[in-house]
Amino acid sequence: MARTRKAILVDSRALSPSVRGLRFVTSDGAPVGHIAGQYLDLVVATPGGLPFRRSYSIASAPDVEHPEAFELAVTRVDGGPTSQALHDLALGGAVEIEGPRGTFVRRDEDRARAGLFVAAGTGLAPIRAMLTEEVRRTNGPPLVLLFGCRSPADVLWADELTAWESAYPRFRLHVTLSRAPVAWAGLVGYVQRHAPGLVRALPDVRAYVCGLSAMVEDVTAALERDASVPRDALRYETYD
Ligand SMILES: Cc1cc2nc3c(=O)[nH]c(=O)nc-3n(C[C@H](O)[C@H](O)[C@H](O)COP(=O)(O)OP(=O)(O)OC[C@H]3O[C@@H](n4cnc5c(N)ncnc54)[C@H](O)[C@@H]3O)c2cc1C
Repeated sequence: MARTRKAILVDSRALSPSVRGLRFVTSDGAPVGHIAGQYLDLVVATPGGLPFRRSYSIASAPDVEHPEAFELAVTRVDGGPTSQALHDLALGGAVEIEGPRGTFVRRDEDRARAGLFVAAGTGLAPIRAMLTEEVRRTNGPPLVLLFGCRSPADVLWADELTAWESAYPRFRLHVTLSRAPVAWAGLVGYVQRHAPGLVRALPDVRAYVCGLSAMVEDVTAALERDASVPRDALRYETYD
């Protein structure tokens, strides 16, 4: 039987108009024990009284100084009981957690190869965990992040991502906006439009794709069809 543990909310802040970043610690102080990219199953009490079980990717890398801590990034879904309860959870509030689970992780053999990371919205969460570890290894092949958002206000962890780009030559960031303001000078449209072009400059790439299934299907299909990325070089996680 899966072991259920309790986690306590210690920080909650807006990352964008629709996404909250939540920091939890395990109630007994035991390490979370995850590999960057994995998710937890949460059991969350809702105002109607029913507990809902949903999966959330861990947005933080394992932290040697605080192995009991983990971060989530939760999109508020209209009419969604669990995401709303998590947005409304007060500091000190508890959820049950099971896991960590999942195989959407950097495999050892992939670290020697270029990485293209493609995310939309909170699909960035597991990729942020992977990249937090990876960008610090200064020697290695390129790591390219293509991040799809609606508007500039929806770019999660924008300061962190731009700081990584200045600090780590391996890392390149491309943000594409589906509802770009007139003054926006960057990429526009959905991620699937730009992923094949970016991958052409990254020989023997491994691609990591995360978000809602329609986006993941479109991106992986475009990479296979338009950039000849072999299927076994594609890793993905879907949220629905
Ligand atoms: C492995 C895995 C990891 C996940 N990680 C995250 C995460 O890190 N952050 C996160 O916000 N969600 C994540 N999800 C989705 C999450 O589990 C819930 O489905 C979501 O919070 C909606 O739950 P709800 O009870 O509020 O609404 P429900 O009534 O259960 O969901 C309504 C609909 O919302 C849509 N939906 C689900 N997730 C999103 C989303 N992120 N953005 C927009 N629409 C969505 C789906 O189409 C779903 O059918 C993950 C799902 C899986 C399977």
